[in-house]
Amino acid sequence: MYSKGLHSSGSSFPRLLGSAAGFGLGAAVALWLGGRDEEAPAQRPAEVDREEKAHRVLVVGAGLTGTLTAAQLRKEWPSSLPPLHLTVWERATYPAGRFGAAAVHGGALADMGAQVLSIVDVDDDHRDAGNGGHGIPLRAIDFAKGEVSRLKACGLLVEVDDAHLGATEERMLWSGIWKHHYAQGGLVSVLRAYLAEAKPDATCFGRRVLRVARCPATGDAGSAWQATASAKVQGASTSSTAQGEVTEAFDSVVMCIPAPDALCIDGVSDALPATSVNILSAVGYDSRASAVVFFHADLQPSLRALFGDSSEIALDLDLEGSGGRWPSERRKKGEESELHLLIWQGQKRAPNSSCAVVAHSVPCGDRTSAEEQAHLMVPAMYEALSALLGLPVEELRSRTLASKTIAWAVSQMIRPMEAVVDPVPDIACLESDEDAAKGGKLVVAGDFMTQSSFLGCVGSALQASDVIIRGAAEYEARGR
Ligand SMILES: Cc1cc2nc3c(=O)[nH]c(=O)nc-3n(C[C@H](O)[C@H](O)[C@H](O)COP(=O)(O)OP(=O)(O)OC[C@H]3O[C@@H](n4cnc5c(N)ncnc54)[C@H](O)[C@@H]3O)c2cc1C
Repeated sequence: MYSKGLHSSGSSFPRLLGSAAGFGLGAAVALWLGGRDEEAPAQRPAEVDREEKAHRVLVVGAGLTGTLTAAQLRKEWPSSLPPLHLTVWERATYPAGRFGAAAVHGGALADMGAQVLSIVDVDDDHRDAGNGGHGIPLRAIDFAKGEVSRLKACGLLVEVDDAHLGATEERMLWSGIWKHHYAQGGLVSVLRAYLAEAKPDATCFGRRVLRVARCPATGDAGSAWQATASAKVQGASTSSTAQGEVTEAFDSVVMCIPAPDALCIDGVSDALPATSVNILSAVGYDSRASAVVFFHADLQPSLRALFGDSSEIALDLDLEGSGGRWPSERRKKGEESELHLLIWQGQKRAPNSSCAVVAHSVPCGDRTSAEEQAHLMVPAMYEALSALLGLPVEELRSRTLASKTIAWAVSQMIRPMEAVVDPVPDIACLESDEDAAKGGKLVVAGDFMTQSSFLGCVGSALQASDVIIRGAAEYEARGR
């Protein structure tokens, strides 16, 4: 059998217990931040026994796909299997990813990545909308619709009328088919809700997975997975932290991360069939940047007048009805906009609660990286808002309380799986080679299988959790 212990190459981990206040769904969940406690009091024998028998699953990535997968595993785990022991490792300091990335200043919150949660509303008039929809099965479409009803009932989401969104291509303003939703507490509140429902036995933020490998087989029953991650470890002096490594053994692993991140992890390519590695290498995302500026509250009336009933202004496009409002002087000179969309956060939140404006850039060209684009974002926002509000740039600067930029090297899908494989396999996640002599599954899931949206992540998360449960049943049936 393999060891289920924790090995760390730093000094002992402090125990930091955080509470998931404001999670919205269910009770608050206790989070282990920064690692497990090696000095925890000895467990009672029954607990040790239970832990020994448990099927240990590691979810890598606490973005939308990861938190959904974790919640689904907890909900669907069969009672006929040994109990689920769920661990979540996330390299960021909170559940975020591209869906939940947020900036907070003085109590005001801004969504920095995704702005709306969108689903297909397949009613009797639009039944075909779900058929073969970019690899998203009807089951996922129905599941997503049910989730949105639940999240609305909990007060986490409110539906937004198409007219209140920017007329950009990715907004999918196809009336009667797509429905869009704001999260008043930020889209991060949806991820926190899923994480609370998943009730992980251990959640470690600031932990980046570096390697995965089969545990060395030590008996007839074979072996499972060993995952190694970098982690901040507290030094002997409380003020010093160092980067250490932790290695832990799991029966199954599910990586809910973008394809380029999966390929960076040593051992992932070895664990997957060659066709799956080809898919991970061939799918493609665009890169872009986002920025937020938190303005002084006295700018609120001007912003309200500018945005009207809408939360978004499309700047670079001249689609019918979009306005294409890139400052006309620059347009006359034939200059191109760095900015794609301006999003006033106040429109999505309680009245007068936020004076934050977020901007998304146009996708980076061949010669600009997301980092370079991020540097241009705040000056470009001042310039655009100055022209639109009729206020000097200096005045906007003087009313700025804080700003932040994010460079998204991996942003939205431009080449999903269906665009790189012919014929398109009927799958929404990638799973490790069949190897009956060894442990549970290693699965890679995420929006690259289908499309960059809530629906895309739901489709992949549902299948990933099914595969892990099926693999666990086979593994346990073999008697480990
Ligand atoms: C600017 C922007 C705007 C968008 N707008 C919308 C929108 O309005 N509506 C919409 O539906 N979608 C939108 N999207 C797309 C949507 O955000 C994504 O499809 C979705 O968030 C993908 O979720 P994911 O969990 O699969 O991946 P991610 O969100 O990328 O999550 C992966 C997680 O894994 C972590 N991770 C990665 N590697 C490791 C590692 N080695 N170890 C540990 N952790 C790791 C990351 O930190 C991250 O938290 C937008 C995306 C961007 C960038």
